[in-house]
Amino acid sequence: MANGNTVAVLGTGIMGAAMVRNLLKAGMEVRAWNRSREKAEPLAEDGATVADSPAEAAEGVSFVLTMLSDADTIADVVGGGVLDTLADDGVWLQMSTVGIEGTERLGELATASGVAFVDAPVLGTKASAEQGQLIVLASGPKEARERSEAVFEPMASKVVWLGEAGAGSRLKLVVNNWIVGLLGVLAETISLAEATGVDPKRFLETIEGGPLGLPYAQMKGDMMIEERFPTSFSLKLARKDAALVLDAARANGLEMAVAEAVAARFDDAINSGHGDEDLAAVYEATKP
Ligand code: NAP
Repeated sequence: MANGNTVAVLGTGIMGAAMVRNLLKAGMEVRAWNRSREKAEPLAEDGATVADSPAEAAEGVSFVLTMLSDADTIADVVGGGVLDTLADDGVWLQMSTVGIEGTERLGELATASGVAFVDAPVLGTKASAEQGQLIVLASGPKEARERSEAVFEPMASKVVWLGEAGAGSRLKLVVNNWIVGLLGVLAETISLAEATGVDPKRFLETIEGGPLGLPYAQMKGDMMIEERFPTSFSLKLARKDAALVLDAARANGLEMAVAEAVAARFDDAINSGHGDEDLAAVYEATKP
């Protein structure tokens, strides 16, 4: 039986699994579902109940939390009446990155099932998810906020409430354009150093600690120099975000030549087999 604290987490990939562990540590009851069940099973050792289907996970719970790859996947997973099985006061915490149109589409599904929809994408990496240090960009109905905070708190260092559902996803897109663009330029900068006989480590050391020396650039730059790309955020999901940014730009009459060019670099890296590696593997498409 679900209690008022039970959270059904749909999607226990890199981010979802870490979120489940932090919810369990905070004493919440969690039902976890993942398409590839073997990825959810280790969570049983931490106290999660592993469900065979999204509907089994969501039956009677007050919160369903989605952390899946993209909007089409989420619509498929929660479709078929899953949202109708929530408790009467059920809230859907949609924490994946799905863009503006995707958020609107998923919000309509929630409305059709009479479920409160909280759009709450996150900033942070695999490590911040594991450490409960995500930044949640939350937006949604006022009456759902206080209750949702109880679920966000164990996984976040900060929860920012931004207004009506959709505002969180808008800000998330803006931030991810910054991340994707940064990675593209960083990859070309490391390659430029190598092509011109400059030690790329010297470049990173030179900017370190000053206003140009972002810790994120140091971390991803080291990965590029060592050509080791253990996945914290996959290249293919970063490319999905680049597409969401370009869709939003087009829909609002904005041309983004830099974002287009970086997206093409991501495509090259994916086409040469690096899609499941960390997004730092975009370097492979820029190597001298
Ligand atoms: P991930 O490890 O690749 O997990 C993706 C999840 O989606 C897995 O549960 C996967 O199931 C599921 N999935 C994919 N296609 C599916 C399908 N057709 N049907 C059912 N399930 C499907 O990705 P992640 O890094 O955790 O990212 C999850 C979301 O968070 C994405 O929207 C991503 O953009 C966003 N995000 C990621 C980060 C990060 O640093 N990683 C940071 C912020 C936001 P299987 O295990 O069966 O493949």
